[in-house]
Amino acid sequence: MDICEFQNMMRRLYFRKDSERGINGTYSWLMDEMKELGEALDANDKEAIENEFADVIAWLASLANVTSVDLEKAALNKYGGKCPKCRSSPCKCPF
Ligand SMILES: [Zn+2]
Repeated sequence: MDICEFQNMMRRLYFRKDSERGINGTYSWLMDEMKELGEALDANDKEAIENEFADVIAWLASLANVTSVDLEKAALNKYGGKCPKCRSSPCKCPF
């Protein structure tokens, strides 16, 4: 499954609910999940970290759906095999 297929799956599963919640509400959920990912990282809890990564990518796909953004296209347009700043792979930007 690629990013596009994942986003389409999330659309099939949740688009009606995501649409009713709207952009701001969906963004708010994504930010809550980001916070929970940070907490799982702080706790160094591998199972929780994996769970929170799943929630973050799910809510990111939902937000992309309600904003009509093609997540895979957007990601690959910007990060298509090279760093968008230095245009190298691997990135050669200074830290
Ligand atoms: Zn770079």
